[in-house]
Amino acid sequence: MTTNANFFLSLQKGIQSALSKPCIEGPDFPFLSYSELEELTAQAANLLKSLDIKAGARVLVQTPKSPLGVAFYLACLRSGAIYVPLNAAYTTEELDYFIEDTEPDIFVCDPARREALKGLFLKHKIPSILEIDASGQGSLLDQLKEFPNQHDVVQVDSDDTAVILYTSGTTGKPKGAMLSHGNLDSNSQALFKIWGWQNDDVLIHALPIFHIHGLFVALHLSLLGGTSMLFLSRFDAKQIIQLMPQATVLMGVPTFYTRLLQQDTLSPELCKNMRLFVSGSAPLLEETFSAFATRSGQQILERYGMSETGMLMSNPLNKEDGERVPGTVGFALPKLNYRVCGEGGNELEPGSIGTLQVKGPNVFNGYWRNPEKTKQEFSDGYFITGDLVNEGPDGRISIVGRNKDLIITGGYNVYPKEIELVIDELDSIAESAVIGVNHPDFGEAVVAVIVPSDNDQTIDEQEIISGLKTQLASYKAPKKILVIDELPRNTMGKVQKNLLRDKYGDLFT
Ligand code: AMP
Repeated sequence: MTTNANFFLSLQKGIQSALSKPCIEGPDFPFLSYSELEELTAQAANLLKSLDIKAGARVLVQTPKSPLGVAFYLACLRSGAIYVPLNAAYTTEELDYFIEDTEPDIFVCDPARREALKGLFLKHKIPSILEIDASGQGSLLDQLKEFPNQHDVVQVDSDDTAVILYTSGTTGKPKGAMLSHGNLDSNSQALFKIWGWQNDDVLIHALPIFHIHGLFVALHLSLLGGTSMLFLSRFDAKQIIQLMPQATVLMGVPTFYTRLLQQDTLSPELCKNMRLFVSGSAPLLEETFSAFATRSGQQILERYGMSETGMLMSNPLNKEDGERVPGTVGFALPKLNYRVCGEGGNELEPGSIGTLQVKGPNVFNGYWRNPEKTKQEFSDGYFITGDLVNEGPDGRISIVGRNKDLIITGGYNVYPKEIELVIDELDSIAESAVIGVNHPDFGEAVVAVIVPSDNDQTIDEQEIISGLKTQLASYKAPKKILVIDELPRNTMGKVQKNLLRDKYGDLFT
């Protein structure tokens, strides 16, 4: 008989070891113990069974963050269904594409949006609609009470897809990265070990749970350890300052740290129980690292990874394994193979700057229903990350840039092409180039440089931005629109975004 490789079994060990302990605490939600979490996941898995959700069925989820949302995610794993979390900011137009692409059996929505989404649900004939609201209470929780709190974990192979995470692409349309049960297991076990997860760790969880950082990295480690989370519906620097004395770990994007630095009460005394501050999803500036070390008495541990691969590199936890060096993302995680390649895909001499390619048990199975794209982004079994790195003589990696056209704003990824396609549809605009510009709070800000279709007309910046927000999630909308007569192009006709970035680089600084 083959063994069951369902990743939920690994998490269940942690859950079972902590049944009498708190799982979710904090000011935003009712207390939830590990035994309550275990029961809820079994009940939700039984609900899925009653709806005839089989292994491999897609469950699309766009809800506010809540403990019930966590239980529902675990229930999907437990049932072998494929969990597809979506950014709560996605508009109806964006959802249309995700539904078309995944053909879900269930859509879980925020009841506040149900009316607005009714047309979409009918159009796509989605068999079941469930609701989870911002308080984590509501109709689904009531429904669950009717289901048994025992459930046999569904048998899956380690290669079977557990989660599809959508990442936008240079071609404009987001692509679904298929993460297997084996991927999730190997990456979370590796991080659990290298970050020395402790039995009494208390994590401040202030990240969204539709993204790899909050859903996998933060949540999985707490569940594997059966340790408690101070679970916040969103990042709020003042709230985190208040909770810090009760916590030991914080995971965040660089913006968390720049905002914490604005709090007068941040001090070594306040942080004395904290053992680990982790930063990732976007580059952490050396000045943030240094200022935070001075103000908190602790060095932030920067790590690097992506939706398609989970975490890849991490600065060391302990001094014996090396210093945490700002501006670097540390060393490769155990079992990761990697190489640094030139433009033609050839492996470069040690020390050269090139594209990072990776292979290992954490690397995804490809893009959902997109074999073409999958083929393009792999080379001899290595996934081409699109990040430009430099490897030091000791194997320490620094991310020095990206050869993919990507903007990371406040930890969220924005692919310019997707925005340009929407802007170029507007009658008043002939063409556009969307760039990322340094921003003191968001790291990078989205800026659209546009050429009007008629030079005599006036362009109303605010009107364009508000219009874009009806079609695109707000974080993707430009913070600024700049009007110019002509986009700079090279001899091949390609827009020279580097010139625009140089020209407008200090727009916000
Ligand atoms: P995502 O799939 O949303 O997690 O975004 C992944 C991308 O974020 C990576 O390919 C990098 O370009 C970027 N990224 C993640 N962590 C870091 C980091 N520590 N430093 C620089 N860039 C990062």
